[in-house]
Amino acid sequence: MKNSMKKIWISLFTVLLGLHVANAKPKKPKYKKPKKVIFLIGDGMGLAQITGAMADNTAINAFERFPIIGLSKTKSSDNFVTDSGAGATVFSIGKKSYNGAIGVDSAGKEYDGLFEMLKDKGWGTGVVVTSSITHATPAAFYAHVGSRKSEDEIAEFLIRNHCDIAIGGGIKYFKDRKDKRDLLEELKEKGYTTIVDSSEIKSVEAKKLIYLLANDGMKKESEGRGDYLKKATEIAINNLSRNEEGYFLMVEGSQIDWGGHANDFQYMKSELLDFNQTLNAVLDYAAKDGNTLVVVTADHETGGLSLIENKENKSTFKVNYSSGGHSGIMVPVFAYGPGAELFSGIYENTEIHYKFKKLLNIK
Ligand code: MG
Ligand code: ZN
Repeated sequence: MKNSMKKIWISLFTVLLGLHVANAKPKKPKYKKPKKVIFLIGDGMGLAQITGAMADNTAINAFERFPIIGLSKTKSSDNFVTDSGAGATVFSIGKKSYNGAIGVDSAGKEYDGLFEMLKDKGWGTGVVVTSSITHATPAAFYAHVGSRKSEDEIAEFLIRNHCDIAIGGGIKYFKDRKDKRDLLEELKEKGYTTIVDSSEIKSVEAKKLIYLLANDGMKKESEGRGDYLKKATEIAINNLSRNEEGYFLMVEGSQIDWGGHANDFQYMKSELLDFNQTLNAVLDYAAKDGNTLVVVTADHETGGLSLIENKENKSTFKVNYSSGGHSGIMVPVFAYGPGAELFSGIYENTEIHYKFKKLLNIK
């Protein structure tokens, strides 16, 4: 009796000691690190836009597939209400800047963006948009200029080779320039496959690709853009997958914002549903892949949209815009996949940049 009690005490002590030793070992990071990142920006997409567009829609609500939600504070360095230049610059270089800035800080100083840092590590990079590829949001990822309006100058930054894939509109900034240069010829010399074709998007295999489908912005979804955004995203993913180290792809639903500026709810809604369809495809891919982090957010809300009571039909809502511009309300952040946990909570938009850096092992 006495002996067996002694044995029990000894084994209990051994177990506890074992646990203590196991705990003393250096802890592994609590989160996994992704090999690929797909960062989707719904320009001008706040909670009212998502709620309103998805309200009577039968498609799978991609936003409800994300396990992690956060909120991003969007003010710029000179305005509580940001524009898309400052709003995307912050994701790329991690510094608040003035409205209109592209990849420069509030003093106009250039800083390397995520794409430059990732190219140094051998990663692939790309942008897919429904605006011109030289528009403020995509530009902030590969260019550094004082003003978003300098789209001729922004286009020249693609020659620096920090963006492997760019799909969207903007033919005139490459072929019909003030300085008469043919940038597509110059990009070919740098090893890019260049395509100018304003008909339907077709698959193409190329590690470096500039694919232009419109003279400036792409046409509206409601005017027959079809499932361009989803297809272009798939083409970008297929081609970026050739980069064995990994890749970072930015996909923008550019015109959600344009519908907001026009206070045109149906325009905004069709653009957001198109974005939702693309999100579903990206989430399906990420679920199969297992190494892909998907993050979705907005640069700001557009239109000061609210959904108010409809006294004539109380099961639905009335659309109420309070502005033709942007608003300063926080925007949602949705995350899925390895490292997604880092995106929960409330933080400044600068933090999104630093969370990516942490997950991508960038000093
Ligand atoms: Mg934009
Ligand atoms: Zn806007």
